Amino acid sequence: MAAPPRPRLLWLATGGTLAATGRGIAYHAGALSPEALLAAIPEAGQYAELELASPFAMDSKDATPHHWLRLHAAITQALARPELAGLVLSHGTDTLEETATLLALTLAPTKPVVLTGAMRPPSEAGADGPRNLLHAIRLAADPDTPPGVFLVFGEAVFPAMGLRKAHTLALQPFAAEPRGALGSAFPWRPPPLEERASPLPLPHPWPTVALLSATALDAPEALRQTQETGAAAAVLLLPGHGSVPEAWEAPIADATAAGLLVVRASRCGLGPVLPHPVDQRLGTLPAGLLSAPAARVAAALVAPFPPAERQILWRARFLPYGAEA
Ligand code: ASP
Repeated sequence: MAAPPRPRLLWLATGGTLAATGRGIAYHAGALSPEALLAAIPEAGQYAELELASPFAMDSKDATPHHWLRLHAAITQALARPELAGLVLSHGTDTLEETATLLALTLAPTKPVVLTGAMRPPSEAGADGPRNLLHAIRLAADPDTPPGVFLVFGEAVFPAMGLRKAHTLALQPFAAEPRGALGSAFPWRPPPLEERASPLPLPHPWPTVALLSATALDAPEALRQTQETGAAAAVLLLPGHGSVPEAWEAPIADATAAGLLVVRASRCGLGPVLPHPVDQRLGTLPAGLLSAPAARVAAALVAPFPPAERQILWRARFLPYGAEA
């Protein structure tokens, strides 16, 4: 009897440690072909028929908006192909949260788009890439997986929104606000369908969004200089839960009054930045569930809107925390 047809998936391989040669932390990211990586997980064939493509192969520390836009175009094309059941996107972990945030905010996926990566090169003891890739393929092929952008990593399934790489070396470096993992790869539990706001348009050209450290040792003049360079937004890396040092208050109020989108983010790796009365006073937006790097991507997408609309778009997407503090 002929075997039942398997779902067809597209795997977009973009490099990272998952495809690295070398050992330890002195690896060469993106050196191995997707064909070579797939040969290490023959079980993948049980779950899906895979089509491979590699728009670029790199260390994700070098990613720019140009790479994000190329990926966005490749995924948009693939989502329009009815014969594909889902997509897998392998990506370096270092800037995965930026790519995931961009895709989650700008796509209207009709099928699963599953990101994955690795913390150890394939030639290293305890390499996690083959397992992560197999789990990503399984999730993308599972008919119970809802449409959406997800990350499969270290046996957990994370949402794209709220994602952050929170550890430099751990085999599970990812965390997500506000609820952590949505599903698991062992025991197998696909994520539930999540409510999604309508997609935001891609900005052309990509606006400059500054990231400014705003603590006792930083000069608030940096904010004015940022405005003078024509930046559309600034994400402030603030202490604790996004607390604004007094010396920064007046410069921030001036900047927002002049139309700069200013986001309060935290220099802590984990936890939300909740709405606070200071936002009313200074015209800032709290990062909510976003890490500072993800808030930079979100700010680039929201900055082109008029200020009143920015508030509404931001609150609907990044502040699932109920009443204001
Ligand atoms: N530097 C690598 C990258 O982001 C790290 C990784 O893949 O984990 O491409």
